[in-house]
Amino acid sequence: MAVDYGLKGHAAVVTGSTSGIGQAMAHALAEQGVDVILNGFGDPAQIEADRRALEARTGVRALYHGADMTRPAEIEDMIDLARREFGRLDILVNNAGIQHVAAVDEFPPEKWDAVIAINLSSVFHATRAALPIMKAQGRGRIVNIASAHGLVASPFKSAYVAAKHGVVGFTKTVALETARQGITCNAICPGYVKTPLVEKQIGDQARTHGIPEDRVVAEVILASQPNKAFVTYEQLAGLMCYLVSDLGASATGSAYSIDGGWTAA
Ligand code: NAD
Repeated sequence: MAVDYGLKGHAAVVTGSTSGIGQAMAHALAEQGVDVILNGFGDPAQIEADRRALEARTGVRALYHGADMTRPAEIEDMIDLARREFGRLDILVNNAGIQHVAAVDEFPPEKWDAVIAINLSSVFHATRAALPIMKAQGRGRIVNIASAHGLVASPFKSAYVAAKHGVVGFTKTVALETARQGITCNAICPGYVKTPLVEKQIGDQARTHGIPEDRVVAEVILASQPNKAFVTYEQLAGLMCYLVSDLGASATGSAYSIDGGWTAA
């Protein structure tokens, strides 16, 4: 990233950063000179190769912690790893998330519990563990990756919509509690981002419906997104870097939409 946000020497934890948006946010922070703790599931050899490549490319320290976001004690240990290894924690990006799509009366209770645990409760557990470190430093930045579904609903995504609305509410409460302590807490609410999962869906749907991929994108995937364009990693990283920099000091307790106009309707 060409812009220098003055973050060199800071330390961050990014949950769910072995893939997609979280990986892009961790890479953007590393490119700004921020030491990062990576987290998430995946092939251990691939995760280690990616971690080494990130360190080699950016010159920061990149560590991996395999905390399962459904397990509070593991989340606490991951946050403490930043204190143990970096001696500080400036930035927490709560990003890990999953989706399950089903009608409410057919929604498997164990899927409900998993979505709420990973998408909402983990944000509480990580924040709870991070705040004492940030308060002692007199500075901290928390960015929660919510969703357009933190502001509006869609059918068949009850657990996800409930969790993401919960994240937006939690964000506001943390912001109020920490407003005098140099700490900010904000949510970013993206529309559709072309992650590997979405990319696969485009091909699958094109084959299923027998229509070209650009029509699948505009009419199926981006049906609710007025600009008919995916949100990019760079666009999300730009806002995230602003929020965690000194420039973002007065921006707290807000939910920022980057959704091509979706929630304006
Ligand atoms: P992704 O599937 O590419 O990445 C999810 C990450 O979370 C992975 O690293 C995965 O290993 C990790 N994860 C999942 N369960 C975990 C667990 N129990 N413990 C630890 N890590 C776990 O997804 P993505 O599309 O990059 O989504 C990232 C975040 O952005 C999610 O919170 C999602 O709701 C949100 N979001 C995504 C989009 C989109 O269009 N992709 C839009 C709005 C919001």
